[in-house]
Amino acid sequence: MNLIAERLDRIAPSQTIAITAKARALKAEGRNVISLSAGEPDFDTPRNIKDAAIAAIEKGETRYTDVAGARALREACATYFRREHGVEYKPEEIVVSTGGKQVIFNAILATIDAGDEAIIPAPCWVSYPDIVTLADGKPVIVPAGQNQGFKITPEQLEAAITPKTKWLILNNPSNPTGAAYSAEELKALAEVLLRHPDVWVFTDDIYEKLTYGGFKARTLVAVEPRLKERTVTMNGCSKAYAMTGWRIGFAGAPVKLIKAMDKLQGQSTSNTSSISQAAAVEALTGPQDSVEEMRKVYEKRRDLVVGLLNKAPGIHCITPEGAFYVFPSVHGCLGKTTASGKRIETDEDFVTALLEDEGVAAVHGSAFMFPGHFRISYATDDASLTEACTRIQRFCAGLK
Ligand code: PLP
Repeated sequence: MNLIAERLDRIAPSQTIAITAKARALKAEGRNVISLSAGEPDFDTPRNIKDAAIAAIEKGETRYTDVAGARALREACATYFRREHGVEYKPEEIVVSTGGKQVIFNAILATIDAGDEAIIPAPCWVSYPDIVTLADGKPVIVPAGQNQGFKITPEQLEAAITPKTKWLILNNPSNPTGAAYSAEELKALAEVLLRHPDVWVFTDDIYEKLTYGGFKARTLVAVEPRLKERTVTMNGCSKAYAMTGWRIGFAGAPVKLIKAMDKLQGQSTSNTSSISQAAAVEALTGPQDSVEEMRKVYEKRRDLVVGLLNKAPGIHCITPEGAFYVFPSVHGCLGKTTASGKRIETDEDFVTALLEDEGVAAVHGSAFMFPGHFRISYATDDASLTEACTRIQRFCAGLK
């Protein structure tokens, strides 16, 4: 009898984490490696948020809270949704979990029966298809390339819906592309969804505070309130507040689904850390200026990286609206050979040779269900970004 369950064979380990680990190992060997593979802010958590956590420890807020999160935090989440989007959620319509990842996991596991379909626009975050597969569901990948700004059209959505469709999983702005839907584009998708009352929408808005060039991210329910009764509006503290290690994700959704997610969470992790929850209340309802300061820095880095990458022969990079990623195409590099004699047939060959020859770690597009591209995270300092892009230019210029 096998020790490891068959269901684990159906999923892959996160390739982003695998490449980050490989880069770390090369660094440990003494190689000069610049890692642009991790989806994590390089900023420290803002002072006021850390102070709130310290105060919580001192006050003895160190016990279990409600499984779905302390009432004070669920109220803070409601305040966030109202302030940012004018959308009303009652505390009973909110769940707090151990990161946004657990919110997605719980929503999918609580709703998908064998064979149910989830529509996932690609390029997509690595975990969505695997979570759906783990729940015995079927990921239905809808490709949206650079030529359409990495965003699906209403026609593509309509064509992907079948009687088995349970979810559309939207990520706005997107990891790995940084693409974000405008209010008009969301409205057009909503028109399709209104014609299909059995389809639920999971909107992962975790990067919504990080948008550039005057672009303001909207959330689906604010654009089309009639979808509120079948939408999960997910957010979290990891990205905008530089709190990846604190593990705070949250969502607003109809009570019947929140109750199901609460039930599942109650038999797995229970509440996320009470101390992180106190910090999250401060993050969501305290001063927001540090978010704006970090956003401005990301915006400059985005422009720096897009400019430098477009000078690399064979690479084409569009300017994304948000998040902290770019997703350039490497089509012009495929079929060539590196200066060190390695043949580049795929995006994976490209990132492997780039890491080995130039010590730059990036993630291949096929890890995001979209070959022919690679992802760079620009959540790192300007000097490293400039050096990494210079190495990419040299690497591409050496291809024959
Ligand atoms: N959603 C997207 C699109 C992400 O990129 C990530 C993290 O990389 C998450 C959700 C999960 O973040 P966390 O679990 O840290 O809240």
